[in-house]
Amino acid sequence: MESTASLAEKTLDAHDRLNAVYGIQTIYGRTDPMHELIGTILSHRTTHANEVTAYRTMRERFPTWENVRDAPLAELIDAIKTANYPEVKAPYIQNVLAHLIQETGAANVDFLADLSTEDAMQWLTNLPGIGLKTATLLLLFNFRKPVLPVDTHVHRVTQRVGLIGPKVSAEKAHSILLSYLPKDATVLFNFHKHFYWHGQRVCTWYDPKCSECALRDMCAYYQSGCRMSLSSTPTRKK
Ligand code: SF4
Repeated sequence: MESTASLAEKTLDAHDRLNAVYGIQTIYGRTDPMHELIGTILSHRTTHANEVTAYRTMRERFPTWENVRDAPLAELIDAIKTANYPEVKAPYIQNVLAHLIQETGAANVDFLADLSTEDAMQWLTNLPGIGLKTATLLLLFNFRKPVLPVDTHVHRVTQRVGLIGPKVSAEKAHSILLSYLPKDATVLFNFHKHFYWHGQRVCTWYDPKCSECALRDMCAYYQSGCRMSLSSTPTRKK
């Protein structure tokens, strides 16, 4: 088993290699934090195009966040139906808005900028339906807080390379990977973006393109002959 120091070194090495492949980005995100918050809920297991359509339709039919909160559930489900699981997401969204408006008096999360990273994380994850992924995306992309979102691509690629163990959950990966990286929002943004893109373009769910991968010589999954059992990757159905 690799030591923490060597895993940290390997993580920084992988980060440097993907910086070279994809180029270092400045942090960008949606300009409206409320759009990021609600859009992230809509985006779960949904293509970007369908998320955009769901968000736009919802805002057209219910122009204020209070309108969304008070909308008849069936109508909100219909408005966001291009997103997968609209019947689950609609009550989540209404619940989040109800709590937010009740606690702060407005559908606005700009106050998070003035909280410490820990307090902002705690506040967000106390909202119903807001998990680590949504909270970290919002805090990193919109408020430049030093946190690391681990979505399905980041989870799968870091697991295959061997930066985290083969059974480590995405939730645990947040803190493990964060402990290996500098607490710098730009570094963490680039780490997230690059592993996300690598998972979309090269280290795909099925048939990863190992022959063109910059991480191949350090990759545990490749070295196992692509036979390693990982919690992030389902067994392929024949
Ligand atoms: S070598 Fe293959 S399995 Fe490993 S990270 Fe690259 S594409 Fe993914």
